[in-house]
Amino acid sequence: MKQRQAMHYTMDGDTARCFLCPHKCVLKPGQTGICRVRKNIGGTLYSLNYAHIAAYNIDPIEKKPLYHFYPGSRILSVGSYGCNLKCSFCQNHAIAHGNPGSTVIGPQDLVERAQEADGSIGIAYTYNEPSVWYEYVFDTACIAKERGLKNVLVTNGYIDEAALRQLLPLIDAVNIDIKAFNGSYYKKVCSGTLLPVLEAVRLAAGYCHVEVTTLIVEGLNSNPNELDRLGEWVSGVDKRIPLHLSRYFPAYLMDSPPTRLDTMTAAREVMKKHLDYVYIGNVAGVDNNTYCPGCGAKLVERNGYGGIALIENKKCEKCGESINLILKMKEK
Ligand code: SF4
Repeated sequence: MKQRQAMHYTMDGDTARCFLCPHKCVLKPGQTGICRVRKNIGGTLYSLNYAHIAAYNIDPIEKKPLYHFYPGSRILSVGSYGCNLKCSFCQNHAIAHGNPGSTVIGPQDLVERAQEADGSIGIAYTYNEPSVWYEYVFDTACIAKERGLKNVLVTNGYIDEAALRQLLPLIDAVNIDIKAFNGSYYKKVCSGTLLPVLEAVRLAAGYCHVEVTTLIVEGLNSNPNELDRLGEWVSGVDKRIPLHLSRYFPAYLMDSPPTRLDTMTAAREVMKKHLDYVYIGNVAGVDNNTYCPGCGAKLVERNGYGGIALIENKKCEKCGESINLILKMKEK
């Protein structure tokens, strides 16, 4: 496949300035960005991972995680390699920071596979960071949208505002990580900054369905006061945004013990003061059903990665509360 020229950069002589993400790399010919997947080749910036698929599965939508977007559905989930953050605990470091094998699948071909995939509602761009796979995500999402498929992003939100604004009209749902409500954590643990991520959450909430994930790492971002401020901030965008608190397990460069279960449940209690829907991830046997914030009626039943909606529209049938839930149309 022909190399794809990058979007969102300018040239100053033969030096490229990439504006795709807040790193804003300045790249002389032959240089590659922090993400490892955008390179100045002879005075033109190219996407090196365009159409390179390093991970490919048909997953339950709950696995993204998206709990309020077509519960019980499946979605073709693809990822490439490269990332613009370097989180010490990265669960997907083999593709984010390694050199995995990949298969080339063009946008048209991927959309056709998604249409043929059994029960899939569309395409999720996930596993590695889709922001640094921008051109492929953009080209594929355009075709997928034309064909009536759903486009889902699972992202760290570390993307420039103009680039995100251009992509969001194609996107139906997004799960954005807020890794901590703490700038020094972003700097030390992830090699990034918090503010652009918060801006991405706020911007996305104006365009599509949004859920947020925070990985709780014992002692690093589990402080109740910090979590309280995070919950308050998210509720300021929309208290009906589902928040996923995910339990940390050792991975990549981080070998401290897994986050304690009582820390996870305490974090959930803090968040529930601010938000209507708070879930715990990476913990077996926890109650992750959706309950009506008005009357407590059970609305979606979840078991592992399965989800069954118990209501047929976006209102609680018991008390009439409006629910932030996108449901599959009933087949006729
Ligand atoms: S997308 Fe990559 S090359 Fe562009 S600014 Fe971000 S890290 Fe640098």
